[in-house]
Amino acid sequence: MTEIKYDLHSHSHYSDGELSPTQLVLRAKEHGVNTLALTDHDTVAGLAEAQLAATEQDINLITGIELSCEWSKKPFHILGLNIDPNNAELLAGTQRLQVIRLERAKKIAAKLEKNKIPGAWEAVQASAGTGMITRPHFANFLLENNHVSSIQNAFDRYLGQGKPAFVSTQWVELENAIQWIQAAGGVAVVAHPMRYRLTASWMRRFLAAFKEYGGEGIEVITARSNPDEVRRVIQFAKQFELYGSMGSDFHTPKNQWVELGRLAPLPENIRPVWELFD
Ligand SMILES: [Zn+2]
Ligand SMILES: [Zn+2]
Repeated sequence: MTEIKYDLHSHSHYSDGELSPTQLVLRAKEHGVNTLALTDHDTVAGLAEAQLAATEQDINLITGIELSCEWSKKPFHILGLNIDPNNAELLAGTQRLQVIRLERAKKIAAKLEKNKIPGAWEAVQASAGTGMITRPHFANFLLENNHVSSIQNAFDRYLGQGKPAFVSTQWVELENAIQWIQAAGGVAVVAHPMRYRLTASWMRRFLAAFKEYGGEGIEVITARSNPDEVRRVIQFAKQFELYGSMGSDFHTPKNQWVELGRLAPLPENIRPVWELFD
C-alpha cells in the first residue's frame, strides 16, 4: 500500500498563487502528494481545471476554498474542504466577496489618483490577470513606477492602515462563511490559527464561536509552524473537539520555505479531518 501524503491548503493563479491549477497538480505529484486540496481565496474558478489534471495524474483532488471573513472585527481565513463547487449558496457568497474585493480595489485606485498617482487601476487589472486584485498588486505598481522605494515602503506611505490610499473593508461574518461551506456539503476548517496573533483567551472565544456556528476543523500542521505552535494548536483542537488538518498554503515556487507536501505528520492524538470526507 502506498503511503497517503496530504496537502490540504494550496493556491493557484485564480487567486494570488503563481501556478495554474494544472502546474500546481503536476508539482504536487513531483513532491509525492497524492491527496491535494486547491483552496483559492474566495473563488472556486480553478477547481474544474485542477480536477482534470488530478484525474490524469492519479491524484485525489479535494475541492476547496479559503474564505475571508470577520469575527469581532478581526480578520480570519476559513477553509472549506470537500465542497460542492456548484452549490448555489456558496457561489452567491463568493460573488459577494468578489464584489467587495473589486470595490475595495477601485477605491484604492481612486485614492491614489487623488494623490496624483494615476493609472493604478489599469495596471493592477493587467497584472492580476486571471487572479484577484490584492494590495500587493498596488504595492508592485507603486514600486515599478518609482513612487516608493520598496514594497514595505508602499504600505508605509500609501496602502497601510491610516495612510492616504487605505480603504477599510467590511468582509463577511464568520457565521456566513461557515454557513456557505456547510451548504456546499464541506467541512469548515480554521486556516493557520497562529497567524492571527490572538491571545489564548481570544483564541478560545473565537474557537467557541467557530464551533457554535458549525466549524469542525483546525489546521494543526502548516509549513511554517514550529513545534511549540503545533503543541498549542493541539491543545485547542482537543479542548474544542476539532478535527486536525494539514496544509502548506503553497503560493509560489519562489518561496523556498514552503513546498507542496513538505509537512510534519499529523500528530497521532488528533483525529484527521479527512475522516469527515466521503
Ligand atoms: Zn490564509
Ligand atoms: Zn491560503
